[in-house]
Order: sequence, then C-alpha cells, then structure tokens
Amino acid sequence: MRLSQMLFVTLREDPADAEIPSHKLLLRAGYIRRIGSGIYAYLPLMWRVLQKVSQIVREEMNAAGGQECLLPQLQPSELWKESGRWDTYTKAEGIMFALVDRQQRELGLGPTHEEVITTVAKEMIRSYRQLPLNLYQIQTKFRDEIRPRFGLMRGREFIMKDAYSFNLDEECLKKTYSAMDVAYRNIFRRCGLAFRAVEADSGAIGGSASQEFMVLADAGEDEVLYTSDEKYAANVEKAVSLPPEIIPSPFTKFSNEATPKTDTIEKLCKLLKCSPTVVVKNVLYEAMYDNGRLVLVLVQIRGDQEVNEVKLQNELVRLASDYGATTLLTLKVPDGAAQDKWAAQRVPLGYIAPDLSDDYIQKAKDIEAKFLRIADLTVTGLTNFVTGAGEIDHHVVGANWGKEYQLPQKVADIRKAKINDRALHDPNQTLQSARGIEVGHIFQLGYKYSRAMGAVYTNEAGVETPLCMGCYGIGVSRLAQSAVEQSYDKDGIIWPTTIAPYTAIIVVPNISDAEQMAAAEKLYNQLNEAGIDTLWDDRDERAGVKFKDADLIGIPYRIVTGKALKSGKVEVVERATKRTREVALGDLVNTLLAAIKS
Ligand code: ATP
Ligand code: MG
Repeated sequence: MRLSQMLFVTLREDPADAEIPSHKLLLRAGYIRRIGSGIYAYLPLMWRVLQKVSQIVREEMNAAGGQECLLPQLQPSELWKESGRWDTYTKAEGIMFALVDRQQRELGLGPTHEEVITTVAKEMIRSYRQLPLNLYQIQTKFRDEIRPRFGLMRGREFIMKDAYSFNLDEECLKKTYSAMDVAYRNIFRRCGLAFRAVEADSGAIGGSASQEFMVLADAGEDEVLYTSDEKYAANVEKAVSLPPEIIPSPFTKFSNEATPKTDTIEKLCKLLKCSPTVVVKNVLYEAMYDNGRLVLVLVQIRGDQEVNEVKLQNELVRLASDYGATTLLTLKVPDGAAQDKWAAQRVPLGYIAPDLSDDYIQKAKDIEAKFLRIADLTVTGLTNFVTGAGEIDHHVVGANWGKEYQLPQKVADIRKAKINDRALHDPNQTLQSARGIEVGHIFQLGYKYSRAMGAVYTNEAGVETPLCMGCYGIGVSRLAQSAVEQSYDKDGIIWPTTIAPYTAIIVVPNISDAEQMAAAEKLYNQLNEAGIDTLWDDRDERAGVKFKDADLIGIPYRIVTGKALKSGKVEVVERATKRTREVALGDLVNTLLAAIKS
C-alpha cells in the first residue's frame, strides 16, 4: 500500500477523552475513530491488525479440531426465554440490546451465542456418532456495557471469537477443554503477548472449571492473585487463601460495652484495644430474586476481612430455589433510604448484632420474613469475640458461639482473598497481586443449556442424554489493543511482528529524488512478493514527519532510501530497539526474512 493513497491521519496531541496509553495511541496513530460511546470505526490499519489476529485464532482453532461457522446476531427472545436468561440479560444485568420488530416480535442483539448454538445442536445432533463437535465463529458482539471505556477494551460493539463444544460426557468435555487451553496458549504466544492463565469464577453453575487468560498490564481492570512458585494464580473474584492468624481476644467475660462513635471496625478496635481478627462483623445485603422476592441477607465475617460479593452472589444463586426463584437479579448493601422499603424499624447499621431479630423486617408479600443468615468460614472458630450489640453506640465483648449467639447453619467461603495472604497449597507462599486484561475465557459449561433447552442425543447404549457443553471466548479487538498496552514507548506503538498491520515501511526521505523513488518502488515490489507486508511512505512530507509517523504507527521495520543509496544500500531501523544498520539492496529481502523469523 502506498501511504499517499491511504486514509491516513495522525494526531499530534493526545485525544482528551482517552485515559490509557493504548487507547491514546490507537486514536493518535489513526487506527480507530470514536463514533459513539463504546462504538468505534476500525480504520484500514486497525482492520489489518484485527485480520491478522483473527487468522492466528483461526489457524489454532482449526488445528484443535474447531469448525468455523457464522451465527445470527439478531436472536429471537424465545430462545433466551427457553434458557431462562431473557430477563437476566435484558432487565437484571441489562447487558443485552433488545428491540421489537414491526410484527411486535422481541429480539436481542447477540451478546453471546449459547442459546443460538444450542438450538442448532438440538435440531441437528441426534447420535453419539456425531460427537464431539466444536464450532466457532469470529464476529461482532453487542453488549450494553454500563461503563464502556478504554477504547476497544470495553466496547459496546466488539469482535469476539466464540466457540462451543458438544461432548458425550464430562470426560469428553475435559479433553476438548484441555485442547482449547493449549490452543489459547498458542494464540496468545503467537500474538506476542505476556499472559497468565488464571482460575476464574464460573458463576453459580457450580463445580465447572473455568480459566481466564490475562494479559498482564497496569491498565487491566482485573486483579490477579498468584504465588511466586507459579503453582497458584486466580482472578480475585475466585481466589482462595488462608486469612492472617488470629491475635487472641483480650476479653474473657461477656459484657455489653458503651462504644460511642465506633461505626467502623478501625474506630472500634482503637477504642477497645483489640485486634480486628477477633471482631465479628455483621454485614447486611439486599438480594432481589428473579421472581420479585426480596431477601435480606445477614453475613458474619471476621473484622479484618471483606466479603467477596461474587462468591456471595454465587451462594445466593445456589439458594434461589429455596425462595421459589431461579436466579438472582441484584445484590446490594442497603443504605438508610433503601431500608424504608422493607424495614419495620431502623436497623442499627454499624452496630448490628449476629442475632438481629427478624422483627426488623416488614411483613409484606414480596419480602421474605426471615433473614438469610450466612457465616463466612473466618468466624466459625472465633472465641471471646467482639461484635455489635444491636443498639447504636454499643458492642459486646467476650462473646462465644453456642452461648450468647448461634452460629448460622449456613457456613461458606465468601471472603475476599487479598495480597500477602498465605496460600492454601503452601502457607509459606504469600499471594502477590497483578493487574490483568482478560483476553480469553474457557469454560466447562456442562448441562446448563442443553437441559434447559432440551438438546439431547442418543448415546451408545441407546439412551437419550443431554449434550455436555463447553464454551470458549477470545476478545479479538480487546486482544489487539492489549498488545499495544504491553508494547509502546514515548514515540508510539511497537507492534509484535506477527500482528503488525504491515511488517515493513519504506520511507522515501525525498520524493522528488528519482533515484530514491525508483529504488523504493523496486524494494516495495520485492518485499511484497516475498510475503513481507510492506507499506510505502511516498507522501510529499518532510523526512522528519515521515519518521515520526512510522514510529507512531509502530511498524516493526523501517527501510530508508537515504544517503546510503549512493553506495547501493538502504538503512534498516528496528522499531522496538531503534537499532539501525545498512543493508545492501540485494540482501534486503533475505535480511528481513531472517529477522522476522527470529
Ligand atoms: P468482562 O469480565 O471483561 O466484562 P466477560 O467475562 O463478560 O468480560 P466473556 O463473556 O467471557 O466476557 O467474553 C469473552 C471475551 O470477550 C472476554 O474474555 C473478553 O476478552 C471479551 N470481551 C468481553 N466483553 C467485552 C467488551 N465489552 N469489549 C471488548 N471485549 C470484550
Ligand atoms: Mg469472562
């Protein structure tokens, strides 16, 4: 491509609305244009990057036994009602764009494709002989993200590769899952990314393994906890650890103490001269189930620990059937105003006791009359603990389970693991923390969709059995931007060679010099013929401007037809290292091929 003929506009200044380096650089270097909130145009350079990433994805998916297809983006609501996700996706999370057509039919714009693919499988897979099957597509997804940001990192329209496997059983699924694990590692390695595979939250489906692939970068929205022996890495949403040791309670007798103005653990411990590890913190949540039932949840957790709301949410989804519901719509910590909807009298926030009476809840049709009481594992072994007395400005000390208070029947791990906690597999290892960008997620789904939608096959014994499913996603557009987030300098982008829009750029310092232009044209043809994607900067611009632009757009090799031409050579500059060398015209193709290979 000749740059003089390309839609190519670079910006001198950082765009005001871009916060992170990769977003700024892609805008400045003319890769993307913002069209609306979370909506971007991929300009010619960006489209080439996306095509290169897609090609790598395609090759690895095919090698792992995947078959490419293309599913519709317009999805009838009936499918989502069958799976039970229509309300969750359009109302609770509200992430799906939904519309009504001229015949008053409800449709959604695909945020993901489990429903569509399960429908296809239900209609087309009959026998075990057709299994296993792994179908994938590379396509635009739509999600009405509440906070679209960071350019392509969190868009409302973005490109995803999604794959879905249909397996005979769990064992067969595990095989596909590990083949996908290998394929994903190959993809990210080939795209030149530094990444980490981490254990991930699987939602409330339970038991199913799930793994995310994180590109390590400070701008990442996810937190990864890991140990330096490399034996453990998990998304903080999922991570487990040992809490710090308890510093024993100084109290030996139960009593109610006046503790004025101690509505935080810190203030309380300062006043009572005790460690937060002997405080039982009582946290109130409002859970709204999909059948409209409001359940008040009272959680007990150790004073120095935080509730992991993802773990709590999963626990509440598991309990949904106890309340005649199928899933949870929202979970929040109620403020004073929220209490007006359900409290019969003001709850003493900051001083709640573990035995908070159910009388605090109004008697109403849609409100569960009793608190759902859940204790985190950290409080079960506490003795002589400190906790709220149930009246403002008062706490009790020296309390014990089974004496002053009953430990809730429901005990679970709902604690947030944090940096410096000891690891479960080896208490000598402490958890470290890093930021990550989630570029991929592989997931053993199991039977959730096949059961809900009746996708069954006849097994070898002639018995009708639900299909066992897996799903596997890669954020193609997010991946492309995360490569920039990992690789840039003050002058611009430094693309990994494998996904750069062009591998080389020929810069002609002076286009009115016929000798320079002739040499450039010849090299341009030779390089492209040799399979090296080459751009030719033949614009009528000063040499300095061209060099700056070449650095900004991040093409791995810059070839300059400058002074050295007199001695039959060109200058080759490596973008990443700025290393410069002179190469004879006749050697250029081979020199570059060798450099690319290494
Ligand atoms: P996140 O937690 O970041 O919202 P997710 O868990 O909802 O992502 P998945 O449903 O697992 O995402 O989608 C598969 C992949 O698609 C993700 O791993 C991510 O790389 C990409 N992705 C998800 N949402 C977006 C988005 N809004 N913009 C760009 N890429 C996205
Ligand atoms: Mg995910």
